[in-house]
Amino acid sequence: MTITRFAPSPTGYLHIGGLRTALFSYLWARKLNGKFYLRIEDTDLKRNSYDAMKAIIEAFEWVGLSHDGEVVYQSDRFDLYKEYIDKLLKEDKAYYCYMSKDELDSLREEQMKNKQTPRYDNRYRDFNGVPPEGVKPVIRIKAPLQGIINFNDGVKGDISVNASEVDDFIIARSDGVPTYNFVVTIDDALMGITDVIRGDDHLSNTPKQIVVYEALNFKIPKFHHVPMILNPQGKKLSKRDGATDVMEYKKMGYMPQSLLNFLVRLGWSYGDQEIFSLKEMLELFNPNDINKSASAYNAEKLSWLNSHYIKNSTNEKLLKDLEMYELNLASHDKKEILLDSLKDRVKTLDELSQMSKGILHIPESYDDKGVKKAFKNDETYEILNKFISILESAGELHLPSDFEELFNKFLEDNELKFGKVGLPLRISLTGITSGISIMDIMAIIGKNESVNRIKKAIEVIKSR
Ligand code: GLU
Repeated sequence: MTITRFAPSPTGYLHIGGLRTALFSYLWARKLNGKFYLRIEDTDLKRNSYDAMKAIIEAFEWVGLSHDGEVVYQSDRFDLYKEYIDKLLKEDKAYYCYMSKDELDSLREEQMKNKQTPRYDNRYRDFNGVPPEGVKPVIRIKAPLQGIINFNDGVKGDISVNASEVDDFIIARSDGVPTYNFVVTIDDALMGITDVIRGDDHLSNTPKQIVVYEALNFKIPKFHHVPMILNPQGKKLSKRDGATDVMEYKKMGYMPQSLLNFLVRLGWSYGDQEIFSLKEMLELFNPNDINKSASAYNAEKLSWLNSHYIKNSTNEKLLKDLEMYELNLASHDKKEILLDSLKDRVKTLDELSQMSKGILHIPESYDDKGVKKAFKNDETYEILNKFISILESAGELHLPSDFEELFNKFLEDNELKFGKVGLPLRISLTGITSGISIMDIMAIIGKNESVNRIKKAIEVIKSR
């Protein structure tokens, strides 16, 4: 069975690079009816925060990537790690190292001076003497002294590292806390992970982790190291290039499916297809198709995808989504007309919420330039007043077509061109010069409110 995991360190929010590897891991497991686990790597007690952990889980829930089983917290597993450290010590595959920090520093300095790669010199590897007093030892693993550490990466291909490049690294610090590369390996092995999909910033950790797998006779999983997401200038993605926190995308009004579709295409492709439903992603994704080179963040693409998903959402879904943007339209009798006419025009849910509010609320101000253009002389007021009385004396009007019929008849009877009435009417109704069809607006707010707004506009604009 294929088992994958996402293993964030709770040192900050969930960033989009993390979400992308989570998505790849999720897709690969779900596609093959395997398991996908979530593991919080919170052993670095100084750098972890509870808030960061909560933020990561919240982001995960928002995008809807469900994981199997309970969330695994490394901080709950110290006893387990200790068991394996003891086992390695007992089997003479690990040892106490009493080298002080000062000694290590001067060794490094010396090596740098001689243009050598700084590395621990194995001085306690086979130590039998009396340990120096007052030094709390670290525990180091015995890495192979010669040979080659080799693995086949699903993205990068064959990777070979000379064993001499991996030193006897520390697996437990002097305070007993196990180190990162050690616990990742123990967890991946015990959780039965078959495919590790992660950022290629971890590529250099993999040979060290393989040393641990081999020391403990664990089965080595398949690794897939995914290249970074870069900004359009080819540099590391930063906050300046757009949001990096997944939850920022929610605030900005992106739908989770837009973000996931955007992320799946960053570093993976299937022909030139751009739109992928979750079902299609599951059908088509394969980590062996992940690109070898870095991908570039493209904000316009995300925006385009989001408009696509908004446009193609049912109104029922939009109504639910809009509640997150402080708009509850559930009981509005013209919500269908409102959403049908707006969803083709917006890029984000936030924009949809703002534009809806702009239509549903009586304007508080009127666009200056628009007013100058539309209200040139008294004739405009006369026309609008006339239209008010037509509206007032009309029977029931519900649909945009009811308003359109009335409006066209009004133009005809008064020998008016649309241009003379359209803009003043639009400004009176919404305060601005562009937007959805005026007939839709009047149908949405209704006859009485339309009359109300036109009257108010005349009053306010006249008194300017
Ligand atoms: N905790 C690591 C990180 O957040 C990921 C470890 C892994 O995927 O192996 O970068």
